Amino acid sequence: MIKKLLQRVFKPATSNKSAPATPAGKVERISARVHRIDRKLLSNAAIKTTEGLQKAGFEAFVVGGAVRDLLLKQRPKDFDVATNATPEQVNKVFRRSRIIGRRFRLVHVMFGDEVIEVSTFRGSHLNEQGDAKVADTGRILRDNVFGSQEEDAVRRDFTANALYYDPASEEVLDFHQGVPDIQAGILRMIGDPVTRYREDPVRMLRAVRLSAKLGLKIDKATEQPISELADLLHDVPPSRLFDEMLKLFLSGHAIESANALRQHGLHHGLLPLLDVVLEQPIGERFVKLALKNTDERVLSGKPVSPSFLFATLLWHEVLLAWKKFEQQGNKPIPALHMAMDEVCDIQAEKMAIHKRFSATMREIWGLQPRFEQRAGKRPYSLLENPRYRAAYDFLLLRCESGELPAELGQWWTDFANADGEQRQTMLLPETAPKKRRRRRGPKKSAAGE
Ligand code: ATP
Ligand code: MG
Repeated sequence: MIKKLLQRVFKPATSNKSAPATPAGKVERISARVHRIDRKLLSNAAIKTTEGLQKAGFEAFVVGGAVRDLLLKQRPKDFDVATNATPEQVNKVFRRSRIIGRRFRLVHVMFGDEVIEVSTFRGSHLNEQGDAKVADTGRILRDNVFGSQEEDAVRRDFTANALYYDPASEEVLDFHQGVPDIQAGILRMIGDPVTRYREDPVRMLRAVRLSAKLGLKIDKATEQPISELADLLHDVPPSRLFDEMLKLFLSGHAIESANALRQHGLHHGLLPLLDVVLEQPIGERFVKLALKNTDERVLSGKPVSPSFLFATLLWHEVLLAWKKFEQQGNKPIPALHMAMDEVCDIQAEKMAIHKRFSATMREIWGLQPRFEQRAGKRPYSLLENPRYRAAYDFLLLRCESGELPAELGQWWTDFANADGEQRQTMLLPETAPKKRRRRRGPKKSAAGE
């Protein structure tokens, strides 16, 4: 119904042209009657932020992904506001707000535990008086120039992401025909796609991620240069890649995203080893199971742990390296730790996994050999380990993927659920005779300890 209405209002979007450069100042004002945004999906905090700024005499709009999601009838996960007020002016309007960021100066406005990110309209990095810097490849290194609303719209990535919604008038301002594109299910780059990818290669990942998440088809001209330009991702700072990958894998559409990344040749620079993983039958099954698991958790609103996710994505690389170090004559446990170091080092060159995640990731891997020990006191102490739960979930995935016998996972499930007596009967007999501990040196006196 709404689709028909919109199609009547706008010409159908063609799918093989880049977005027409809308003449400066040319803006479509789309009324509530046409766009039908459901105000109930808006957060109060977003409304209070735009109202506060407008009362103080500024322009203010909900912008970007939130408007796109509202048009797609989805509840946005966060709200951004764009305004012509400077960060200092925004900061003065709201008591509970603070200016953040050095490169991009933004204001966070707090309402309860909701944070609204407010940015001042930005101009083009090509603006000469601007504080901008561009690398030889065309990548923008710095652009923090204030500008008009039209300029702000041009520097956004996709037409669907360049929409401004005013909760007071309920109008959507569309500078790049984003509304008809959304209605036609198309994700289209604003301007010349090659130039825009060169300016910021992360836009290639965003195209893949947003199309998988929103079920939008990437427009031909927007899609076509991606495989050729994939290598540009090597120049992107690893921490930025990590943030984007995290969004991609935690979007609830990790499987489609991973497949699309691969199809576009974008995975090489990210998880350099993922390609190899996906080519091994067990590895592929394992990664797919892990991603499916993650998607299900995200879509049912359960928390997911990035450490666990990255531990699964890299596990088969760890396994390979583990075997290699064992074959070189190292004992199993030291060999596992050498393998973990090697995989993490190779990974860090491309996409830095934040320390707070990689430490847990290593703990999950490091506990895996302990599940093979089912005699004596060892199973009890493993149950007490603070990372037991994550490591156990990881073990179950290994079993489900066929890497380990299902019986092992089942044993741990039963052991954890059993009472004290039952547990005793489940323990396996000690295999190797216990070695007597040799004491090194004379026994220390209590005072010396
Ligand atoms: P999500 O729903 O995953 O948050 P999003 O589009 O809102 O998707 P954000 O990273 O929150 O993504 O970005 C907010 C807005 O900022 C985008 O909608 C877009 O207008 C703009 N933007 C973000 N990243 C870029 C980029 N690399 N180049 C140009 N514009 C960008
Ligand atoms: Mg967003």
